[in-house]
Amino acid sequence: MTFTLALVGRPNVGKSTLFNRLVGKRLALVDDQPGVTRDLREGAARLGDLEFTVIDTAGLEEATDDSLQGRMRRLTERAVGMADACLFMLDARVGVTPSDQVFADILRRSGTTVIVAANKSESNASEAGVIEAYGLGLGDPVALSGEHGEGMGDLHARLAPLIEAKAEADDDSLPQTDLDIEAEADNKPMQVAVVGRPNAGKSTLINRILGEDRLLTGPEAGITRDAISLTVDWDGTPMRLFDTAGMRKKAKVQEKLEKLSVSDGLRAVKFAEVVVVLLDAAIPFEQQDLRIADLAEREGRAVVVAVNKWDIEEDRQGKLKALKDAFDRLLPQLKGAPLVTVSAKTGRGLDRLHAAILKAHEVWNRRVPTAALNRWLEGMVAAHPPPAPQGKRIKLRYATQAKTRPPGFVVMCSHPDKMPESYRRYLVNGLRADFDMPGTPIRLTLRGQS
Ligand code: GDP
Ligand code: GDP
Repeated sequence: MTFTLALVGRPNVGKSTLFNRLVGKRLALVDDQPGVTRDLREGAARLGDLEFTVIDTAGLEEATDDSLQGRMRRLTERAVGMADACLFMLDARVGVTPSDQVFADILRRSGTTVIVAANKSESNASEAGVIEAYGLGLGDPVALSGEHGEGMGDLHARLAPLIEAKAEADDDSLPQTDLDIEAEADNKPMQVAVVGRPNAGKSTLINRILGEDRLLTGPEAGITRDAISLTVDWDGTPMRLFDTAGMRKKAKVQEKLEKLSVSDGLRAVKFAEVVVVLLDAAIPFEQQDLRIADLAEREGRAVVVAVNKWDIEEDRQGKLKALKDAFDRLLPQLKGAPLVTVSAKTGRGLDRLHAAILKAHEVWNRRVPTAALNRWLEGMVAAHPPPAPQGKRIKLRYATQAKTRPPGFVVMCSHPDKMPESYRRYLVNGLRADFDMPGTPIRLTLRGQS
């Protein structure tokens, strides 16, 4: 287990900015508007030679919605529970405010290890704030500027002994055998992205999977504005879930956030092994749904289509047939991809979704033995010989699987450049059907022999 540091503090003190600096990629959104960052988010952090996990928490929202405030406080408390230590961040230019005191109380009561950070202290104007921070009674503050990268050496000096102590404690546990290490590698969480239009029910679904109220959900589009990831053991399968608010078209959110969110959605697809395209049964296969499914295919991800809100559907049989027809017509490139109906709200169908994700992942990783592949190729050619453009018959000589994730095949042949698209499709569809690889993108390369 790596050392985990939670960034805690009220909105706008600079948690996301520091998170981004530590994680080194723009996984979190940053904005001046308080409360943009509402959920817990984890990243792999690096500070000099130190490697650890960082959790960015939501602050106490300054908005008037009390229930939202309470929930965010609970999220903070939960992050504290998950972390080995907390970096309690203040805005040194402002000094210690009453809401900072609320956080200080939470931290004091939790008994967790706390490092106080007086952030935004790149200018002289923040000196008074740093001094005030001593008065919290949570230890000497570190003066930081997350934005300008100042004070990182001091932060390193404070973190290094904590991380070292944790590593030593872990070493005392049972030594690992090679077999354990192998099993652990196999147990690497499966990377799953849940994508879909706003209000499709992504957050509700993930909450349901997590079995706890860790993500905020609500009727308004866009409550989850970031791509965030959470690791969960879902019925015995470790999964890293990327929730994304991507593919958003509504404009409750500003332009800038809009763009970032869409690219977050795209990024989630790039991270993922399996992409779950979540559709709203009432408005399935909208343009954005098709775009993201197509993108997932082009990026070579395994795809599962899940139709949500099935609980409010009346004519289920008729609807299912219509959905399947629409799917085949609109997404021929994903032929045979699993389509499952679910209700994130009631939890119905989640077992089927789980099974479909596992199966899609397995197919995506499938390796076809070379001997079987070549027997298959002979059969395909015998059943339907390749054409002879300009009197020259294309000869298919040999096939091999060059890669997995997704499966990629190479067929050695004469005149590869003359191969018509229809014959290539015949081969791809044949591979899919004969080796039971529905729904995964299949790559086929034709190569001439030199
Ligand atoms: P969070 O809501 O606590 O996560 O805060 P953000 O990371 O979103 O930062 C809020 C605002 O403070 C943004 O405008 C940042 O650019 C700004 N900010 C963050 N760190 C610093 C810093 O070290 N110095 C200064 N001057 N501004 C900062
Ligand atoms: P997101 O924008 O994709 O994250 O969508 P949310 O999870 O916030 O859900 C949007 C709305 O749809 C909320 O009002 C949810 O309660 C509702 N919702 C989500 N899943 C279901 C479902 O399976 N059935 C019904 N009836 N409503 C749902």
